[in-house]
Amino acid sequence: MVQAVEICAEQERTAKKRAEVRRLIRIKAGAGVLAVLMILLTAAGCQTGKEYTYYYYDYFDTFSSLTVYAPDETAAKRYDQIVRDYLSAYDALLDAFEPHEGVVSLYTVNEKAGTAPVAVSEELYAFLEYGLAAYDKSGKTVNIALGSVTALWQEQLNKNTEGGQAESKPADGSSETGSSEDSPSEADPAAEPQLPDPDALREAARHTDPSDVVLDPAGHTVYFRDPQIRLDAGALGKGYVCAKIEEALRAAGCRSALFSAGGNVMTIGTYPGLAGWNVGIRNPDPEAAEQVYTVWQVKDASVVTSGDYERYFMIGNTRYHHIIDPETMYPGTRYHSVTVSCRDAAVADMLSTALFLLPEEEGRALAAEYDARVLYIYNDYSAG
Ligand code: ADP
Ligand code: MG
Repeated sequence: MVQAVEICAEQERTAKKRAEVRRLIRIKAGAGVLAVLMILLTAAGCQTGKEYTYYYYDYFDTFSSLTVYAPDETAAKRYDQIVRDYLSAYDALLDAFEPHEGVVSLYTVNEKAGTAPVAVSEELYAFLEYGLAAYDKSGKTVNIALGSVTALWQEQLNKNTEGGQAESKPADGSSETGSSEDSPSEADPAAEPQLPDPDALREAARHTDPSDVVLDPAGHTVYFRDPQIRLDAGALGKGYVCAKIEEALRAAGCRSALFSAGGNVMTIGTYPGLAGWNVGIRNPDPEAAEQVYTVWQVKDASVVTSGDYERYFMIGNTRYHHIIDPETMYPGTRYHSVTVSCRDAAVADMLSTALFLLPEEEGRALAAEYDARVLYIYNDYSAG
């Protein structure tokens, strides 16, 4: 009997979670960012503490959530506060697009480091060291000095996808009929999506050499030898903050948690009663019956996806998205998505972008160096 009651309670909890996960998916899909879904639907066995979930809407242009097991609400709120503090601090520090009052951020660096060395906080300095080193570690694919180029693509993505994803009209000029309720596109229907100006792109590409970003450990300064360099933390920032959050939560005594920030999932310990946390990997095929391609169970590890379906616009049959191949200065075209799981949340984020851009053989070799598990979803939506 007791068991049956427990099962009923669990089913109710599960139904609520399902509704919540669906709601979150809608929000994420609306924001154009959705890579990894948390699957928290498996019945728990004996529990170590109670489950608490917190949501964060204001950081890193995405929504994030923390599911944590804690003995009581006071402990859970302490974990919530740690997450909020780190998200808030690093969102400001790593923001290259808007100034944050009283904060020397990537925005400040981009504005001023071409003229004179800019003194930055220990935290931002550490990120810059890490970010610049990522270039060689990623087979020269992840380049934080690509900002002049990514800004041009960002501008087109913003223009072409305002309110959703944009697709160019069919060549015969006919228009789609039917309900627009599910149509993601609210961009000006008269405006055809445009590519960045090729001359501007060529010119920007001349200002992307990471060795022109000079760090001085003595004064914690950063200086651009090439004044037109711009930094972009997009490929690394979320994973980096996930790693910081993990460290702080563990230090505060947390033993069971899943933190998700738009396509980046970080886990501590296991879901109570299971051997790990179940993390769903999204199927990038919009036609697929199942949104979740597969589920990985991970323990004390991160799962990160980089995909071409998160932010994109279409011109004819060509998809233009937000992950730029430094060899061509155009979006990478090898795969629909690459998912990576490994111990370190920051490394997982770096690897997911790197593998998305590298040929498969090189990508797998790189992943092996970090003992990382990989799932490629190819352009025909097959997987390997
Ligand atoms: P997401 O931000 O969707 O999780 P990624 O981690 O793959 O995806 O990072 C993509 C973001 O990183 C882009 O939005 C852009 O700001 C930046 N970016 C794009 N291409 C590169 C690149 N080759 N190197 C460094 N940063 C990049
Ligand atoms: Mg990344």
